[in-house]
Amino acid sequence: MDGWPIPLWGFVETFAGLTAIIIARYFLIVGPIHWALWKREPRTARRLSKRNPTRATIANEIRLSVISAFIYALPAAVVLEMWKAGGTAIYGGMPDGLGAWAWVPVSALLYLFAQDSWFYFTHRVMHHPKLFKHTHAGHHRSVQPTPWASFSFDPIEAVSSAWLLPVMALVVPIHWATALVILMLMTINAVFNHAGWEVYPSRWVEGWWGRHVITASHHNLHHTKFTGNYGLYFRFWDKVCGTDRGLVGVDVPAPKPVSPVLEAAE
Ligand SMILES: [Zn+2]
Ligand SMILES: [Zn+2]
Repeated sequence: MDGWPIPLWGFVETFAGLTAIIIARYFLIVGPIHWALWKREPRTARRLSKRNPTRATIANEIRLSVISAFIYALPAAVVLEMWKAGGTAIYGGMPDGLGAWAWVPVSALLYLFAQDSWFYFTHRVMHHPKLFKHTHAGHHRSVQPTPWASFSFDPIEAVSSAWLLPVMALVVPIHWATALVILMLMTINAVFNHAGWEVYPSRWVEGWWGRHVITASHHNLHHTKFTGNYGLYFRFWDKVCGTDRGLVGVDVPAPKPVSPVLEAAE
């Protein structure tokens, strides 16, 4: 395979650099948003629960997020090193022709849908009572999440999700700029969905956007109820599999419990 094996020293440098960038990105984006929501309590956003996040919750969110940064940087550094040697499906330059331009949004949707699907099903597996404690309980220590929870995965969960996009980049052609946009969407989506506040206007949340795209009003219920609303970006799989619990403040019939032990523990 082109670009393989990768140079060891180059890999170590890229891994260290990427870890630093991921951690810096986390604090630079989450810090101001957390301050704007939880310290300023803006009238334009809607608070989703009366619970207050504790200092211990936030400390746990930050600790797990920093550990996750190291895990996420690992496969990404391997692929970046392979990219330098021309061994991936990542390309650059101006798209040439209609087909190449059309591929930009198509590839973006493909990557997002693949990530959403992988997340939905592994997330449900991790909610199995036998696995939950070891794979996903750290994330759920945030019964009332804050933006700091956006990257707080238990190490096993981080391992299960970190490799997907880098491996896709070996085979599914993607422009480096599209990849950057996806990484940005991934970050903002995770921060907004864990904010504890609904930042989108009500008419968006109750309209087309909120019916199809996951917002804090959707994911906050996953944290307070533990079951249902497992998706990452889209409500598609939750609706198809009957696990959609609707939105905070919008009543929908509860789906059948998918994790009886946790349901009983509520
Ligand atoms: Zn969960
Ligand atoms: Zn969450």
